[in-house]
Amino acid sequence: MIKDEYITFTIGRQKHIALIAHDTKKHELVEWVEKNKDILKNHFLSGTGTTARLISEKTDLPVKAYNSGPLGGDQQIGSRIVEGNIDFVIFFWDPLAAQPHDPDVKALLRICAVYDIPVANNQATADFLITSKYMTDEYERKVVNYNMVIQNRLKELKQL
Ligand code: PGA
Repeated sequence: MIKDEYITFTIGRQKHIALIAHDTKKHELVEWVEKNKDILKNHFLSGTGTTARLISEKTDLPVKAYNSGPLGGDQQIGSRIVEGNIDFVIFFWDPLAAQPHDPDVKALLRICAVYDIPVANNQATADFLITSKYMTDEYERKVVNYNMVIQNRLKELKQL
């Protein structure tokens, strides 16, 4: 039954938003945050090291800084998603430049998909997300029930 295969987590009214931008996209993200400051000030902001610092300097919003992306910041944000402490991601990645931490970028996008996290990869999507009715409401995200998957796999393996 679908109810057993999936479990739901609530994204509260106050979102825990991670902000990340590759170098060529950082100014675009700073401008976007400035433009949406009145909304974003009501949420908890964090980001990869350089992006987070740049945004707090330019906008005066508090942004918790993880490590810089190439030094594991994307992975830290991914692990916060797994733990349930980040539930919203704005990630302006650069589709025209190779990144040394490309596997980490892919890993973060994958974990966002696994945990049904709203994630904007460009300005248009970010604009749609920030104007969504769910910004001021709760949202139930739906995640595969891995406990059940593990139980079933263990059962199968024990029969071998
Ligand atoms: P940065 O990391 O904010 O430290 O530049 C972003 C990234 O490249 O993932």
